[in-house]
Amino acid sequence: MERKESGNDSDAFGFKFLTKTSYAPPSWASHLAPIPSHVFSLGHFPTPIHKWNLPNLPHNTEVWLKSNFSGVSDDFWNLWGFERICYVLLLQRDDLSGMQLSGNKVRKLEFLMADAVAQGADCIITIGGIQSNHCRAAAVAAKYLNLDCYLILRTSKVLVDQDPGLIGNLLVERLVGAHIELISKEEYSKIGSVTLTNILKEKLLKEGRRPYVIPVGGSNSIGTWGYIEAIKEIEQQLQTGTGGVKFDDIVVACGSGGTIAGLSLGSWLGTLKAKVHAFSVCDDPDYFYDYTQGLLDGLNAGVDSRDIVNIQNVSVYMTFKNILMNILMNGKQPTPPTTTQ
Ligand SMILES: *Cc1c(COP(=O)(O)O)cnc(C)c1O
Repeated sequence: MERKESGNDSDAFGFKFLTKTSYAPPSWASHLAPIPSHVFSLGHFPTPIHKWNLPNLPHNTEVWLKSNFSGVSDDFWNLWGFERICYVLLLQRDDLSGMQLSGNKVRKLEFLMADAVAQGADCIITIGGIQSNHCRAAAVAAKYLNLDCYLILRTSKVLVDQDPGLIGNLLVERLVGAHIELISKEEYSKIGSVTLTNILKEKLLKEGRRPYVIPVGGSNSIGTWGYIEAIKEIEQQLQTGTGGVKFDDIVVACGSGGTIAGLSLGSWLGTLKAKVHAFSVCDDPDYFYDYTQGLLDGLNAGVDSRDIVNIQNVSVYMTFKNILMNILMNGKQPTPPTTTQ
């Protein structure tokens, strides 16, 4: 059964959970290459979209939530970034896609894990910050699929030699038996995530293992398909929904780039045509325009990242956080900020 039926059939009852199916892309994405041959059903999709009645919104502005959630604060502020430009705001309630798999992170893993299995891997390696939601999701997904999981987690120098403990995502990762290696922030930035994962890969290969490396945040061209599919999901929801809703803008946070690559490409190619606005929470916009370009080129998309996504630094985002705080605390109408692109 093709995934394209999702939402209207047995999938809605969860029967497809943890099954691997052959993958057919949306028609508007069929010229992209390479197209994944399979996808694992690891999350419960579609996630709902609903309106959020924020106070004091400008005229003709609606805010809708399909939350790209992995922490209350993130989303909350994501939302706000939007008001500046928004007519309709859309975020995904991906927090509802399956808890252990950490919401939105599972979308990329559905394709990455299928690729790992197709390549005959017996373990996965991935890397991120000490409380990385992506690493937590990868560890759980690996467990579901009976693959071993090796995590390289970045932390402060003093903590590297200590037991990382059982706090937050680490607890989940340890419950599912992930192997955890710690690396200091200094070493991480000196060596780089690609080299670090490759060193571990070489070591495991020597031990006779068959490792599959998933990059930071699961953000490579394969992972990007997860968010191309998310756009298809939204299109289908709009078709079957109560009607009349059109999203002008999508706002998300950007941490490793895969989410915006998939959303912006899908929105551009498909029928949605909503402008994607990203708030970078770590590196600067130029870094992410280039990184996203690499992901788009890896799919032979033939588009320029700067034409399809608007990336802003988190400092702008923090301004909106302050404005939102002001509204929520004092009920004040914000003054419309000026655009900085
Ligand atoms: C992971 C995450 C993102 C963005 O993911 P990328 O790593 O850039 O693909 C956005 N919002 C939230 C809340 C996240 O947890």
